[in-house]
Amino acid sequence: MTKLRYKKVLLKVSGEVLMGETAFGIDMPTVEAVAEDIKQVVEAGVELSLVIGGGNIFRGMAGAAKGMERASADYMGMLATVMNALAMQDALERIGVQTRVQSAIPMPTVCEPLIRRRAQRHLEKGRVVIFAAGTGNPFFTTDSGAALRAAEMQSDALFKGTSVDGVYTADPKKDKTATRYDRLTYHDVLAKDLKVMDASAISLMRENKIPIVVFSIRERGNLLKVLHGQGVHTVITEDS
Ligand code: UDP
Repeated sequence: MTKLRYKKVLLKVSGEVLMGETAFGIDMPTVEAVAEDIKQVVEAGVELSLVIGGGNIFRGMAGAAKGMERASADYMGMLATVMNALAMQDALERIGVQTRVQSAIPMPTVCEPLIRRRAQRHLEKGRVVIFAAGTGNPFFTTDSGAALRAAEMQSDALFKGTSVDGVYTADPKKDKTATRYDRLTYHDVLAKDLKVMDASAISLMRENKIPIVVFSIRERGNLLKVLHGQGVHTVITEDS
């Protein structure tokens, strides 16, 4: 196979991916399948950090829509990401991948607190670091959390694993004429208001010159392919 394009990667997996074909929660066979893909790239020598969303369990906006105070609902959303992180840790360790979970909301009985330099050390030792609880702040999303960790861990790229194989001109599930971009600029994404990640996440990646790679994590083996610059995906950088 060709050379790896990126050595140090932060992978964001949305909570919805972990539902698999179910309507809610954690589908363990799906988590195990994603874990196998992660094992492949770790064995290929990639230093991998993970941020997992919580949308499969709870979203702050949904709680707020039902009358809850937004901040409380967001904290529940962050706790949901911790559950997903523990499920992923379990699946990875069962197949021999060493991991550490670090939570932005300290809960020392369950996992490590977020300590950047310690996380760096884990990566150097070949462990996968799973960052839980997003940014630790309400009114943010795990996309912003992923961008923040990608920047502070000095990642070579931010990989966004979704159920769609890249960025499209419109939502391909609703619009059959939508076409996929191979390459985009940060500016295009912001100016065209393309639904890739929050504007704050895109801006942070732009300031730090970290490419964003959007690909389908539902397709087995795709993560490794995309890391080699193959497979279907969209790359977002400063120049298209
Ligand atoms: N959340 C938050 N601050 C963060 C990250 C997440 O308040 O820094 C909350 C927010 O309520 C969000 C929920 O956690 O709706 C789950 O995260 P997200 O919706 O980003 O998950 P995904 O869409 O990736 O599954």
